[in-house]
Amino acid sequence: MVTTTQREEMTWYECEKCGLLFDAEDEARQHEQGCDSEDPSYLQ
Ligand SMILES: [Zn+2]
Repeated sequence: MVTTTQREEMTWYECEKCGLLFDAEDEARQHEQGCDSEDPSYLQ
């Protein structure tokens, strides 16, 4: 699921699986559909 987060006075869309941030919700959702990272431990 894509979550939103506030950073630098902007709203970012975050992939819950790997933690990647996107500035466009569409991009985040698209990424998440292909995201197979279920273990984010390597990202600290
Ligand atoms: Zn991801």
